[in-house]
Amino acid sequence: MHKVIIIGSGCAGLTAAIYAARADLQPLVLDGYEPGGQLALTTEVENFPGFPEGILGPELIERTRKQAQRFGTEFHAGAVASVDLSKRPFKITAGKETYETQTLIVAAGASARMLGIESERNLLGHGVSTCATCDGAFFRNRDIIVVGGGDTAMEEATFLTKFAKKVMLVHRRSEFRASKIMLDRAHANEKIEFMTPYAIEEVHDVSKKSVELVTLKNTQTGERRTVATEGLFIAIGHDPNTKVFKGHLNMDDNGYLITHDGPKTNVAGVFAAGDVQDHHYRQAITAAGSGCMAAIEAERFLAAEKA
Ligand code: NDP
Repeated sequence: MHKVIIIGSGCAGLTAAIYAARADLQPLVLDGYEPGGQLALTTEVENFPGFPEGILGPELIERTRKQAQRFGTEFHAGAVASVDLSKRPFKITAGKETYETQTLIVAAGASARMLGIESERNLLGHGVSTCATCDGAFFRNRDIIVVGGGDTAMEEATFLTKFAKKVMLVHRRSEFRASKIMLDRAHANEKIEFMTPYAIEEVHDVSKKSVELVTLKNTQTGERRTVATEGLFIAIGHDPNTKVFKGHLNMDDNGYLITHDGPKTNVAGVFAAGDVQDHHYRQAITAAGSGCMAAIEAERFLAAEKA
């Protein structure tokens, strides 16, 4: 029987683990499909406090993981297949194991949707990015592409004009899912050039480990063209990793967990932290902060039961 199980080993999960371990709760972290979360998929991180020269995302994660281990956190590999949160102890099944726990912290994250092209995967962190706030400053005076037709794409394209010389907004249809106000703002920005209806077919050049060109295909006529660019921002949405919690935890229409009073969910003793409950800020530091809050609440929950 565990006092606390943490699902997810990104910034939120690992920070929760540090706090829970230091509170003597001997946390168990279940790593999940993407150990290390979104930071493990990026390169330079320049906005995490305490690292004036910046730090590589995977290194930041590795250091945070070691910090959690130092105070006795246990890690098990494997993604969660099912949960039973109907009564305590909660039951969590991952791989062949079923674990029992008095409290649960869900920090399973949200995965950025990707186009699904191999070259895009290979160049992630080398010119391909899923986060304008994180990586925009690396593209000062460059020509870059933002892909997507929703509010995220409009917001990121507009934000990126602060740095970029030109932002090309590529969308597969000529109609946009974005709200009128966000679309109008992007249209009014002289630095944004709309390119529709185009899909990204290929990102070059994987052999040089940098983005130099993309091949676009017109989704109506089939015409192909290549466009020079130094950055490619994928802004086609995120999917919170919450499928296994359907029917157990309250979530919004997009599948994000709904929390109240900080990290509390609708089930007493189950807390949520990081991107799994936040589609607004999505930053390493906000995820870490909410992981800390979840661990403190788990500790207080257990202490109140004992009293
Ligand atoms: P959306 O699901 O709204 O939009 C995703 C966009 O990406 C769509 O235009 C879609 O194209 C496109 N897309 C999806 N998959 C692919 C693919 N494989 N290849 C190419 N294009 C693809 O996601 P968002 O992240 O933009 O928004 C999510 C929610 O968050 C929305 O409710 C939005 O309003 C909200 N939001 C609000 C903001 C604000 O108000 N400040 C800022 C950001 C988000 P298609 O249209 O053809 O399906």
